[in-house]
Amino acid sequence: MASLWGAPLSTTAATSSALEALPLAKSPRMPVLFLGHGSPMNAIEDNEYRRSWQALGAEFGARYPRPQLILCISAHWITRGWWLTGMDKPKTIHDFGGFPQALFDQQYPAPGAPAAAQAISRSIAAPPVGLDKDEWGYDHGTWSVLKPMFPKADIPVIQLSMDYSRPPAEHYALGQQLKGLRERGVLVVGSGNIVHNLRMTRRGASAIQAYDWAIEFDKVIAGQLQQGQLGALAGFQSLGTVAQMSHPTWDHYLPLLHAAGAADAKDPIRFFNANYQSASISMRSVVWG
Ligand code: ZN
Repeated sequence: MASLWGAPLSTTAATSSALEALPLAKSPRMPVLFLGHGSPMNAIEDNEYRRSWQALGAEFGARYPRPQLILCISAHWITRGWWLTGMDKPKTIHDFGGFPQALFDQQYPAPGAPAAAQAISRSIAAPPVGLDKDEWGYDHGTWSVLKPMFPKADIPVIQLSMDYSRPPAEHYALGQQLKGLRERGVLVVGSGNIVHNLRMTRRGASAIQAYDWAIEFDKVIAGQLQQGQLGALAGFQSLGTVAQMSHPTWDHYLPLLHAAGAADAKDPIRFFNANYQSASISMRSVVWG
């Protein structure tokens, strides 16, 4: 279990000037994404979600600059402390069960970026963020969306873990410290779901069918996003029962807070995939910028 559960690196000297050490050129401001990933099968099925990720990927190098680096915060990397993948060649992780072999055969061989990971870790004033050299890689929250977007796997990718023991506001605050990366060609991607309750999935439900509590929660969050009330997103538990039903655990919501933190209330915002998978998963996805 080497580095993953060890003590995070000290970042006592962290300052924003640490970004100067990033081995990345200054660039026009990159957008920030929150992608609802839903079922792992979306990675390989020819459906509206996969097609939307393919279309979004094609906007980079056209409407937006091509990213120099992708920093992904996935619902599926939960740790004690906070970590960045710091290996040269992160492995593809198949962190699910009960799916066809074709899904387990998927690989996403995008390179890592150890030097950039170190510079990013030092640029974050608090909390301390360690470098994971051998435990993680790309889990399906990352590769299921990035493979359709960037199928050549030629843009380096770093994953940032989430310390589930810390309150939502700290996840948002960490996201705020990623803002500067947008000027350095880094595409920040949160990958989760705005509503995610696997215990309540209803097979065969259409994309417009969902539980009332799912529709209500999705609507409130979409309103806050639209009005640029980004800090308010961390207070989702105050919505009570609809929040508890929408997130029996918070892992799929927290990446939204990281992405919203890196965004700016003044960024133009657009939604896509604003519908549901299996009645209890909101696929609503967000582009800022
Ligand atoms: Zn997931």
